[in-house]
Amino acid sequence: MDTGTEARRATRRADIGGVTVGGGAPVVVQSMTNTDTADVAATVAQVRALAEAGSELVRVTVNTIEAARAVPAIRGKLDAADCRVPLIGDFHFNGHKLIAEVPDCGVALAKYRINPGNVGKGSKRDPQFAQMVEHAIRHGRPVRIGVNWGSLDADLLAHLMDENAARPAPAPAEAVMREALVRSAVDSARRAESIGLPGDRIVISCKVSDVQDLISVYRELARRCDFPLHLGLTEAGMGSKGVVASTAALAVLLQEGIGDTIRVSLTPEPGGDRTQEVVVAQQILQSMGLRRFAPMVTACPGCGRTTSTTFQELAQRIQSWLARQMPVWRERYPGVESMQVAVMGCVVNGPGESKLAHVGISLPGTGESPVAPVYVDGRKTVTLRGERIAEEFQRIVDDYVRATWGGEARAAHLDPERRTVPIRAA
Ligand code: SF4
Repeated sequence: MDTGTEARRATRRADIGGVTVGGGAPVVVQSMTNTDTADVAATVAQVRALAEAGSELVRVTVNTIEAARAVPAIRGKLDAADCRVPLIGDFHFNGHKLIAEVPDCGVALAKYRINPGNVGKGSKRDPQFAQMVEHAIRHGRPVRIGVNWGSLDADLLAHLMDENAARPAPAPAEAVMREALVRSAVDSARRAESIGLPGDRIVISCKVSDVQDLISVYRELARRCDFPLHLGLTEAGMGSKGVVASTAALAVLLQEGIGDTIRVSLTPEPGGDRTQEVVVAQQILQSMGLRRFAPMVTACPGCGRTTSTTFQELAQRIQSWLARQMPVWRERYPGVESMQVAVMGCVVNGPGESKLAHVGISLPGTGESPVAPVYVDGRKTVTLRGERIAEEFQRIVDDYVRATWGGEARAAHLDPERRTVPIRAA
């Protein structure tokens, strides 16, 4: 698929429990639970929800001995439910001890996240980092060297600040902090290699909460190493702020071919749906033409030319219905995720957009006759009218899917005539 993005950055290829990250593989969507990992039932339920939403890797925090003991049980219950999503363990401060005390935890996890700023203080830092890497070597697991602005290696930062201050023309403090982030990640990765971890078992991240800093740091990381990169704006925030900030940062980098796996770190509303971060990550990739996860619905925003909310309701209905079908369709109708459906509000852009979709409908605007022409593969096929336009349109889309991706007989209202208008590249 020609996406218009720059060529993907060449990286090593890491295998995370059967999911390939880097080396030209499709950009992987991942997420993280917010349950207490020691609560096996709650964590299993959330991991399953995230996986069903499309998360290809799921990270769980492993912060206590209870959490470490719970991990094998969580893996077992997921496997019993045929949920094979690889689990990643998020370790800070005591990971070296937890894996030593609960080796089965190290086995159940497909990857370990190590934060070089949080492995230990002073003289304990290097040996504890080495122990984490040795656990990964022993269990044959990859690691993510995950540096974070909020827990940057204080000794390294102090050293770079001193070096900078001694220069005739010191760089701004922000530039030194960005350098410390990059240096911490790349040097830690090289150190892991020197301890014996193969270079194709290392993924790197350097998360910050400012969009421009993130772009700058990842461009530099991409320039200095060929490890696969995990992209994400940390502490992106709630609601539209988190979505917009994450999209702004990730889109720039992905457009430049930088990024092999992404996570969108949204703060959910109290009691909110954790899977939202998976949906947003998928939508970023799909909107950029990098991956396809679900059929796209093109809908106009509406304006004074259409006074009713009919088209808004239809667009929402179709979008929700498509999302509900996808778990089954994905298995039964491979390729259906490339489908484009248009739901438009009036004759101004309705027929044009509908012809460009696989299936489209142009609803009547104000003053137009109360009919809704339907277009299939660029040709007008039927005209719907009356109270049941939504149900009939849904049936046409359903028939189209079964005929196009399921090989079933084509219903008459799909019009078997030859397509004459090009469909947008899938
Ligand atoms: S298609 Fe019609 S209703 Fe929709 S935004 Fe355009 S002019 Fe307005």
